[in-house]
Amino acid sequence: MIFQALPWHQSALVGQLHDAQRLPHALLLRGASGIGKTRYAMALAASLLCETPLDSGLACGRCLACGWVAADTHPDLRQLTRLVDDDGKQANDIKIDQVRALSAFLGVGSHRGGRRLVLIDPAEAMNHVTANALLKTLEEPGGGLCFILVANRPDALPATIRSRCQLRLLDSPGAEQASEWVRTETGCSPAEAQAWLAMAGGSPLQAIRFAEPSQASAHRTMLEAIARLPDTSWIATADVLQPFEGRQWLALMQRWLLDLARCRMGGSPRYFPAQTARLRDLASRTDPQRLADASRDLAGQYRSVGHPLNPRLFCEESLAAYLGAFGPVAKPGPRG
Ligand SMILES: [Zn+2]
Repeated sequence: MIFQALPWHQSALVGQLHDAQRLPHALLLRGASGIGKTRYAMALAASLLCETPLDSGLACGRCLACGWVAADTHPDLRQLTRLVDDDGKQANDIKIDQVRALSAFLGVGSHRGGRRLVLIDPAEAMNHVTANALLKTLEEPGGGLCFILVANRPDALPATIRSRCQLRLLDSPGAEQASEWVRTETGCSPAEAQAWLAMAGGSPLQAIRFAEPSQASAHRTMLEAIARLPDTSWIATADVLQPFEGRQWLALMQRWLLDLARCRMGGSPRYFPAQTARLRDLASRTDPQRLADASRDLAGQYRSVGHPLNPRLFCEESLAAYLGAFGPVAKPGPRG
């Protein structure tokens, strides 16, 4: 339902709509990843464009304008996001052509006599060229024009962009509310909801993606394979992991390493509390420096995850990076 923010943001949204006259020309929504910032931005845009809003200021969901917003055809709304190509691959950046294409939109007045809105999400996907192209408009927006930027990492945005936006922090939900929501959305048990939330680092949106049945079984398989290392052959582990998306198992390995580091320092795991015994055992077999080195090497792997020349080799190299935490590893090489 795009006309509503997630439950924990709904009152903030109503508050902002109550004050809609004071809406800045450029608003930067920030907050933790996967807590519903995009939903908030969409609900805000829909409410601002709705032609018969509710008393609360929220979009009615029934008028012509709301229909257009739902169909992504509202003439006074533009969305800039990373494009997905024909193969389903998402671009890393918002392209300069996308910003240039805005100029036609910016050059004319409102079609419906109300506001004109540009949503940029995620804003940090703008590269320097794109951001520069946008700057001038951000500085002198035309009448009724409002930019809504969404960012997980506002620090990654050029300071020149940040300084032109009013920042608004969207809070993360409390553990209880997040868990309740994950349960309602997925029908899973309270214990499962907590496990998915932990694995998602507290992000309810990522938690419900994890809980989706095919994802859930894939993650179980990947996690089991990672958790068995270094006590099983890493060639066998590569056989298990390689069919899955590199981003998925790399993210799991990174979180697993973070939990190992927490256990090594005498703390409790954050992402995989159900695996505490295994994590503590493994943590006793490594040291903080090796864990830090392995994390750094895996982060390097993550940067090239989108386009490995040889997926099998990429998987083996990633495992070698992880296994570095447990002692020297022979580098994999091409095999006949
Ligand atoms: Zn409406």
